Amino acid sequence: ATPVALLVGTGRGARLGVLITGPDALEAAKGIDTIVLDKTGTLTTGELSVSGVRVMEDAAVDDSRGERMSRDDLLRIAASLESASEHPIARAIAAAVPADERVEVSDFRSTDGLGVQGVVAGEPVAIGRPSFVTSLGVDLASEVGTALAESAEQGRTAVVLAVGGRVGAVIELADTIRTDTAEAVGAFRRLGLEPVLLTGDAEAVARRVAGDLGIERVVADVLPEGKVDEIRRLQAEGRSVAMVGDGVNDAAALAAADLGIAMGGGTDAAMHAADITLVREGLSGAVDAVALSRRTLGIIR
Ligand code: ADP
Ligand code: MG
Repeated sequence: ATPVALLVGTGRGARLGVLITGPDALEAAKGIDTIVLDKTGTLTTGELSVSGVRVMEDAAVDDSRGERMSRDDLLRIAASLESASEHPIARAIAAAVPADERVEVSDFRSTDGLGVQGVVAGEPVAIGRPSFVTSLGVDLASEVGTALAESAEQGRTAVVLAVGGRVGAVIELADTIRTDTAEAVGAFRRLGLEPVLLTGDAEAVARRVAGDLGIERVVADVLPEGKVDEIRRLQAEGRSVAMVGDGVNDAAALAAADLGIAMGGGTDAAMHAADITLVREGLSGAVDAVALSRRTLGIIR
């Protein structure tokens, strides 16, 4: 394509709500044969809400009352801890408790793709993946496994809350697949792109969402570095890979992909790392970007 055609293509993209960093991105888009899709915030709205709190038998005893901590006590601690994080899970848990009911948290620490930890009233608290909580020395009773499996069965993300070195609760979160996602996945296939779901969430949750969308290839339970590894693995298969994501944890993978596409409502980190940012809500802009580059560069498949 001539530079002029590329420039015109870039301008048309902007009118479609697809911000393209430059002609190179449009050029890269034409050869893509695989589209890797993050789950939370990309296939789904990422506007999670707490749909359940299951208090575990093992929950710490509240010394002042000599009873097991209640659901409300546990949720209050969880919300207080998560109010310092921007993660979609954190926003949902923080929003489950009014701000004036939160308690003070010290020594807050967030580990991308794993969870958060801190200290409340002298006791260590943590929320995150089961493996994150066990890495902090907390034993997970079999009851936790059962609760996680039940959440996954319903396609719901679940995180483990530990208080005082003991598991306190399993917090379940509901997310919604975006209304235009199924249509976009179908359009990617018609453009000859194989969709791959790539997520830090549990395998069973990912499979459930993939099943609803007819996506066969699923890579779940990955850490942020693992997302980059998966992009490289697909490239090593000889594929030309686009990646769509929204989170801080997607940034490195967006940069590693042949074409990085950021959701407009996502994090700055994702937008900085990407070649294309979708201004319109939903995934249809990514379909437009690939179709536009094929048209602009005169490739008809
Ligand atoms: P995704 O790929 O779905 O966007 P992330 O890589 O951001 O997921 O997170 C992977 C997992 O790490 C989450 O499913 C959750 O179990 C845990 N996690 C990450 N951040 C937090 C947080 N702030 N609070 C609780 N759990 C978290
Ligand atoms: Mg995400």
